[in-house]
Amino acid sequence: MSDRRVAIVTGASRGIGAGIAERLAKDGFTVIVNYAGRHQDAEAVVAGIEAGGGQAIAAQADVSDPQAVARMFDAAEAAFGGIDMLVNNAGIMALKPIADSDDAMFDRMMAINLKGSFNCMREAARRVRDGGRIINLSTSVVGIRLETYGIYAATKAAVETMGAILSKEMRGRSITVNTVAPGPTATDLFLDGKTPELVERLAKMNPLERLGTPADIASVVAFLAGPDGGWINGQVVRANGGMV
Ligand code: NDP
Repeated sequence: MSDRRVAIVTGASRGIGAGIAERLAKDGFTVIVNYAGRHQDAEAVVAGIEAGGGQAIAAQADVSDPQAVARMFDAAEAAFGGIDMLVNNAGIMALKPIADSDDAMFDRMMAINLKGSFNCMREAARRVRDGGRIINLSTSVVGIRLETYGIYAATKAAVETMGAILSKEMRGRSITVNTVAPGPTATDLFLDGKTPELVERLAKMNPLERLGTPADIASVVAFLAGPDGGWINGQVVRANGGMV
């Protein structure tokens, strides 16, 4: 058994989660690369981490399923002796005006974004070792409130509030709980279904005039995960180039 700290990153087979997993591995964490369905993508992230001298395993679990989440935490504890950090990154996004949104769309985003984050936060609150970290992913749309983002932004606003309350419930254990809220970031979730013109317009909403990258967001998570971020607790850090 090694003395590396152990991090579970949900939704780490692609996009921001993959960037976070790679960065945390570079910073010395053993990483559990969680995914929903894309096994090969998750294994590719693991292989990349191992090629760089890091330690990682892939772990399938649908975060909306509490039993599957508990089994993933069990497996991480069995393999590595404990868990020091959860990055609650898995999420989905569907965009429609509220008037045109159906029940299935609402239920699915609630199940994965909010219930999924809750399922993982609950296990982390019970199991993360003293001195650890819990980091949730929200969105800067909670601040800028764009049309069509109603359900998605509502799930993430709830995650921000739950995380801040959990930070207080962790009193006495030196475990910080924070939320990182990216702006538009170049991943499947953001790019799918958008025209190049719309992508360009959204990229220009911040004064740095570009999309974020998974590495931009991973840097913020790495700061909060490391010793320099230890005094930040119960906060939402927006990382969006100045959009809001
Ligand atoms: P991607 O769509 O690129 O990746 C989503 C990841 O989540 C994949 O690894 C996917 O696994 C996983 N996932 C999806 N559903 C589940 C589930 N039920 N259980 C477990 N894992 C699941 O998304 P992003 O990287 O863009 O987003 C990451 C987070 O950042 C999300 O919470 C998102 O809301 C947030 N965010 C993103 C922004 C952006 O502009 N991209 C802006 C603001 C916030 P698999 O590959 O197996 O499908």
